[in-house]
Amino acid sequence: MASRKPFVGGNWKMNTNRTTGSDLARAVSDGLMTLDGVDAAVFPPFPYLLTVRSILRDRGSSIRLGSQDVYHQNDGAFTGEVSVAMLKDCGVQTALVGHSERRHVIGEKDELINKKLRALLEAGMDAVLCVGETLDEREAGHQEIVNSRQVRTGLAEIPAPYAERLVIAYEPVWAIGTGKTASPQDAQEMHAAIRNLISRLYNADVAARVRIIYGGSVKADNAAELFSQPDIDGGLIGGASLKSADFVAITKAAAEAAKDKA
Ligand code: PEP
Repeated sequence: MASRKPFVGGNWKMNTNRTTGSDLARAVSDGLMTLDGVDAAVFPPFPYLLTVRSILRDRGSSIRLGSQDVYHQNDGAFTGEVSVAMLKDCGVQTALVGHSERRHVIGEKDELINKKLRALLEAGMDAVLCVGETLDEREAGHQEIVNSRQVRTGLAEIPAPYAERLVIAYEPVWAIGTGKTASPQDAQEMHAAIRNLISRLYNADVAARVRIIYGGSVKADNAAELFSQPDIDGGLIGGASLKSADFVAITKAAAEAAKDKA
């Protein structure tokens, strides 16, 4: 089995303010000062990116700075949107695209998500492509078809070398923010199916290297079991990333799991 460095991202969503976000960034960077064997990133709201960046930089933290979204056009009349160049200018290194709340609350479609992903990767940034089925789709047994469509369309016209900088987050919609976590076995099954698809879309080498992380009510007490699965390479954490001690514990659990798998 290829050994992949795990990735843990903290998606703060539309939470925190300048004070609580700063406190959280300080506490997380202190808790993960010796970040070994795992890549960690935080995804604060847009207005706090520069503040969080200064905190991480001043502390010499290796936690990466991410944004929760991006727009694919460079500049121009796109009121309310933020370009890749603007994010880079603010020291942002990675971005989420296709998060379930963007797909299901805001109404983003696979084609737009693909444009955003291409814009990020073409500009040399990292990216996290989020995919996942709804409860209705799972109950109808369509989870593999849905995730496969989201991965295929999301990755359209993205060449193999870019996959190095890509993380795929499998996040079943019914598990996000609900307290219902996918069982480690169900999550592993979907991760293996996605890895298999990556192998068919690219090749076995890319599939062995791409990191596929799980998101959906990951907590400090269920992280270790999820991350111990062979194809689960870390997590995208929402609610629990707002509590520094929990985010630190989850990130350390990912590093430990990777040691056991090596
Ligand atoms: C998320 O925001 O991507 C997420 C997985 O949220 P939660 O951990 O709260 O389910």
